[in-house]
Amino acid sequence: MKPLYYAFALENMEVTPISLLTCNQEAAEMLAEEYSWTVTDYGGGYHDDTLTLRQGLRESCNIYAALTSHNIIEKQPSR
Ligand SMILES: [Zn+2]
Repeated sequence: MKPLYYAFALENMEVTPISLLTCNQEAAEMLAEEYSWTVTDYGGGYHDDTLTLRQGLRESCNIYAALTSHNIIEKQPSR
């Protein structure tokens, strides 16, 4: 699923391979509140860093992917 989110974001949003998102506990807590879904990176941790989309994809960052899908949902024009 992750590559699909990224492909969608790159095509339809103002997202580029160097778009920055932060992977940390705060981001995870925001996602948990929004979706009642706890997300961490592999092994249960976080990068605790700001990543580009390229890094997020290369390092299989779950938070980056979840934030990207969150941003897609948030920015969908209402129909
Ligand atoms: Zn991460």
